[in-house]
Amino acid sequence: MLQILVDEEKCIGCGNCAEICPKSAKIWKVKDVAHILDLRYCHVCTLCAMECPTQCIKIERNG
Ligand code: SF4
Ligand code: SF4
Repeated sequence: MLQILVDEEKCIGCGNCAEICPKSAKIWKVKDVAHILDLRYCHVCTLCAMECPTQCIKIERNG
């Protein structure tokens, strides 16, 4: 089970996550803060987390 959690307290809405993500249009929506739309398209490259300036993206994979 894949989960990507955005800490909305720390997100500054810069859009780096959406810009770097290869499947951005299907996964990310950034308004004031970043939201995940659909993780089925995520291939867990972790680029979004690496590009986040406030380290507010947490990627978790269980099982
Ligand atoms: S891990 Fe990769 S594919 Fe998944 S949301 Fe982040 S950048 Fe996109
Ligand atoms: S890169 Fe990080 S701070 Fe910037 S919009 Fe995405 S989650 Fe928010």
